[in-house]
Amino acid sequence: MHELSMADAIIKTVIDSAEKNNAIEVLEVTIEIGELTLLNPEQIKFILEVLSEDTILEGAKFNIEVIPAKIECSCGYKGGIGSNDELDHYNPIISCPSCGRGNFKIIDGRECNIKNIKIEQEE
Ligand SMILES: [Zn+2]
Repeated sequence: MHELSMADAIIKTVIDSAEKNNAIEVLEVTIEIGELTLLNPEQIKFILEVLSEDTILEGAKFNIEVIPAKIECSCGYKGGIGSNDELDHYNPIISCPSCGRGNFKIIDGRECNIKNIKIEQEE
């Protein structure tokens, strides 16, 4: 499952960085997920909570921020691609809202980043 491997990678990265910073507890993790990653934010959150059990992340709060898709088209259009509801999340077909073609570059919407991690450090 897509979400599971992504959540697993996030957990590993957070644990790694928490350990490097002598954290005794991870309080909060904020993750940015692009609309076009096809990741389900609710599912990611749930999996993160499950995977964080018995780790330094147990009890941490997970904030998921969805980054809307943004394109730059050869017709000159630059911006969003319209409402989220129009996106078929299993088979997204996106086209430029201005010219209707698909000759564009995706600027935003494919990221999956850990934006910040709030930890409690050892005294
Ligand atoms: Zn266009």
